[in-house]
Amino acid sequence: MPDCLFCRIMRGEVPSKKIYEDEHTFAFEDINPQGPTHVLIIPKKHIAGLKEATADDTELIGRCHLTAARIAKERSIEDGYRTVLNVGPRAGQSVFHLHVHLIGGRTLHWPPG
Ligand code: 5GP
Ligand code: ZN
Repeated sequence: MPDCLFCRIMRGEVPSKKIYEDEHTFAFEDINPQGPTHVLIIPKKHIAGLKEATADDTELIGRCHLTAARIAKERSIEDGYRTVLNVGPRAGQSVFHLHVHLIGGRTLHWPPG
């Protein structure tokens, strides 16, 4: 999508600290980190969010999570990390290109706020 912030980051039109890329997923540092590790993992295909995803996106959503797990392993934060999808404005979704937050490197409390 031409005007989507995360599509623009993926195309290199908006600078970001890229962490990982493969055929289907792209990962970069969150600009406002909520922990020592805060990485955003996105599908290369533009999907607005989880509630807009369809059965065709099943594998892609799984791939985003597996990319998160891979980064968590590389960063040695497997003693505790969280993958989060904020869905809808009331849950804090502010960018409407589906993204998995990978947050870790510190103690995480439950329930989240
Ligand atoms: P949401 O609130 O939609 O779940 O998550 C959006 C995330 O994108 C936020 O954590 C926010 O800090 C991050 N973000 C917003 N704009 C930018 C940007 O231009 N670059 C990067 N790297 N992250 C961004
Ligand atoms: Zn997009």
